[in-house]
Amino acid sequence: MDVSHILAPLNDAQRQAVTAPLKPTLVLAGAGSGKTRVLTHRVEWLVQVEGVSPHGILAVTFTNKAAAEMRHRIEQQLGLPSAPLWIGTFHGVCHRLLRMHWREAGLPQGFQILDGEDQQRLIKKVIRGLNLDDTRWVPREVAWFINAQKDEGLRPRHLKDEGDPTRRQMIKLYEAYEEACRRNGVVDFAELLLRSYEILKDAPGLGDHYRSRFRHVLVDEFQDTNTIQYEWMKVLVGSASVPYVVGDDDQSIYRWRGARVENLQQYRKDFRDVQLFRLEQNYRSTGNILDAANAIIGNNSGRIGKKLWTSEGKGSAIRLFRAYNERDEAEFVVNKIREWIAQGGNRRDNAILYRSNAQSRVFEEYLLAARIPYRVYGGLRFFERQEIKDALAYLRLISNRDDDASFERVVNLPTRGIGARTLEVLRAHSRAHSKSMWQSAFECNDELGTKAASCLQAFLTLIEKLDAETQGLPLHEQVDHVIQASGLAGHYQKEKADKGEARLENLEELVSAARGFEPEDDGMTPLMAFLSHAVLESGEGQAEEWEDCVQMMTLHSAKGLEFPVVFLCGLEDGLFPHQRSVTDMHGLEEERRLCYVGCTRAMRHLYLTYAEQRRMHGIDSYGAPSRFIAEVPARLVEEVRPKVQVSRPAYVPSSRPGGGYPGSRPNAGNGYVGGRRFQDDTPGSLKLGQRVRHAKFGDGVVLNLEGQGSNARVQVNFERQGTKWLMMGYANLQVV
Ligand code: ATP
Ligand code: MG
Repeated sequence: MDVSHILAPLNDAQRQAVTAPLKPTLVLAGAGSGKTRVLTHRVEWLVQVEGVSPHGILAVTFTNKAAAEMRHRIEQQLGLPSAPLWIGTFHGVCHRLLRMHWREAGLPQGFQILDGEDQQRLIKKVIRGLNLDDTRWVPREVAWFINAQKDEGLRPRHLKDEGDPTRRQMIKLYEAYEEACRRNGVVDFAELLLRSYEILKDAPGLGDHYRSRFRHVLVDEFQDTNTIQYEWMKVLVGSASVPYVVGDDDQSIYRWRGARVENLQQYRKDFRDVQLFRLEQNYRSTGNILDAANAIIGNNSGRIGKKLWTSEGKGSAIRLFRAYNERDEAEFVVNKIREWIAQGGNRRDNAILYRSNAQSRVFEEYLLAARIPYRVYGGLRFFERQEIKDALAYLRLISNRDDDASFERVVNLPTRGIGARTLEVLRAHSRAHSKSMWQSAFECNDELGTKAASCLQAFLTLIEKLDAETQGLPLHEQVDHVIQASGLAGHYQKEKADKGEARLENLEELVSAARGFEPEDDGMTPLMAFLSHAVLESGEGQAEEWEDCVQMMTLHSAKGLEFPVVFLCGLEDGLFPHQRSVTDMHGLEEERRLCYVGCTRAMRHLYLTYAEQRRMHGIDSYGAPSRFIAEVPARLVEEVRPKVQVSRPAYVPSSRPGGGYPGSRPNAGNGYVGGRRFQDDTPGSLKLGQRVRHAKFGDGVVLNLEGQGSNARVQVNFERQGTKWLMMGYANLQVV
C-alpha cells in the first residue's frame, strides 16, 4: 500500500511515532514540534495501514476549538467525514456517553447540564434548605469543595470528616446537593466525568463493550489531565486497548483546576512497556521566538527537559513595547495589526493574548473604532457580559423610566421579593393600557397584595433615589454609585462566586470605561451618550466564526493554537505573573509555563507589551515590567519605542493632540486615536522643579514632562515613593 501521503509530511522522529507498534505510547515534546500533527496522522495510520475501523478510535483533546481543528485535520487527511470517529473534549465525550446510557447512569432521559452559575444557584438553595447561613457557607466555596472531590473521583461516602466540623458540614452539603441534582435531573460539569467513569467501571457489560470497541484511545495535551480524567482513560483502555498520549510538561497550565502533570510519569508506571518518543524540531516559530521561549522556561525547576530547535532562520527580533498606559498599548497593537493588513496579511493572522479577560475591553474599543472585525474566544465581549448588562439596565432606567426591558431585567435583581405574579400583573396592565411597566407599577397597587405592592414600591423608590443621588456627578461616579447603591455589587460579591470575582472586576472596568469616555458635544447628557455608545458596541463588532477577524483570547485558551503574529500584552508584574502567584513558587512556575505557551503560539512575529500605568478594575496601578521580560535574552529583543528623550520644555503647552511640538511622542499625530475623543487635561502650568502633591503618593518634585494632549505625562520624584511617571490627565497634581 502506498503510505507516502501519510508519511511524507513528517520528519523521521515523527514518522517513528506515527508508525510505532500498537502498544502504549507517550510522545513527550516541546511546543510546536508536531505532537498534534503526529496524533492526527496516527489516527490516519491506524485506519489506513493497520486496518482499524474509525469506529474503534477515540481521540480526546482539551478544548472544543482544538477538537474541531483535529476533526478538520483528520477529515482532510482521510478524505471522509469523521462522523464515525469519536473526537471531542473529555466533557464532550462523557456527555455523549451519558446521553446514550442515561438508564445505566440513573439519569432521566432529558437530563440537563448545569453550568458553573446554575450550580452555585442550586447549592445556595441546598444551603438554605439545611437552614445554614449562606454567608458562612459560601456557595462558591461549597461548589469548589464539591467539584474538587468529584475531580478526584470521590463521592460523599468516600469522605471522612477527620474530626473537622467544617469538613463534616461540607460533606453533608455535598450529599444534599447530590440529592438535589437527582431530584432536578441535572448534572454539573464535574459530574459528567465522574458519572461516566462510574458507569464504565460498574455498569454490567458496559465497560467491556467500550473496551472492545475503542481499541485505540488517543489523548492530546495529556499534561493537563486531572485525576478523574486519567482514571476515566485507564478504565476505558483496560488491559487490551492501546493508549497513545502526547504532551509537554512545560505546557501544564491547569494545576489550579486539579491538573496533574505527574500523570505523565504515572502513565509510564501504570501501563506496561510504554514506548517513549521525543520530537525536537519545532516547525512553528522562528529561531528568535524559540530562543526566547526556551530561555524563559529555562528558569523553571524540575522540568523533564527538552531540546527544541528550528531550521527556520532567526526571523525578526522579539519586539518589546513599553506603553504609557493601557490605551497606548491598545493603540500600538491596533496600529501594528493595520500595518499587517495593509501589507496584504489576513486579520486572523493576528492574535491578542492576555492574562485576564477584563483586559479585552480596551482592545475591543480600539479595534471597533478602527473597524477591524475581531472575535473574543472563551468569553463574551465586554458590553454583552451579564453583569455589565445588569448595570447598564439600572443606568438606562435612570435615564428613561419607560425602558421595559431594563425594568424587567433588574426589578428583582438583587432579589427584593418581586415575583413572577407581580410581573404578570404589571405586564397585563401595561398591555391593556399601553403603558410602560414603570407607569403600570404606580397603577396596579389594588391588584397586588400588600406585600408585593410594598416590595415594588421599594424598587420604584430606589430608582428615583439613584437618579436624585447621581445628578450632577461626573459620569464615572454616576456609574460607580449605581453599581454600589443598586445592590448589584453586593449581589455579585456573594452570589455568583465562581465567576463572581471576574464579574466584580468587570463592573469596576465599566467604571473605568466611563471615566475614559467623553461624549461628543451633541446635546445628550454624558450618561445618555455613554449608554448609546454601549448599545452600539454590543450590537456589532464581534465577527462571525468564519469571518476573517483578529483573534482575542486569554493565554489559557490559546493552548495548542498558532498564529503568524502574536501580541502578548499586559506583561506587568502583578498582572502577569498574576498577583496571586508571585509569592508562591509553584504558582510562579505555572505562570511561567503560561508565558511559554503564549510565546510559542507565535509563528513569525512576537510582540511583548506592557504599560507603565494601567487602569483596570477602576484603579490605577504602576506595575513593574513583568519579570518574564527580563528572562528573554537582550540580544533577541528590540525595543520598538524606547522612552522618548524629550527636549524638556519649560512647560507643557495645552495644544491639541497631533500638534507636534518638540518632545512630542514620535507616534503622536499618526497615532490612531480611536475615533472618539478622550479627556484632554493637559495642564498648562507645570514646570520642571516645581513641588507638587499627589493624593496617594504625597509630595514630590517635577523631574520631567513629556507628551501632550491625552498622553501628556509628568515624572515626579516623590519624597516617600520614589520616582514615578504619571498621566497628567489622571494624576490630579496640586501645585504646592
Ligand atoms: P503545541 O505544543 O503547541 O500543541 P504541537 O507539538 O502539537 O504544538 P503542532 O501543532 O502539531 O505542534 O505543529 C506545529 C506546526 O508545525 C503546525 O503548523 C504543523 O502543521 C507544523 N508541522 C509539524 N510537523 C511538521 C513537519 N514535519 N513539516 C512541516 N510542518 C510541520
Ligand atoms: Mg498540539
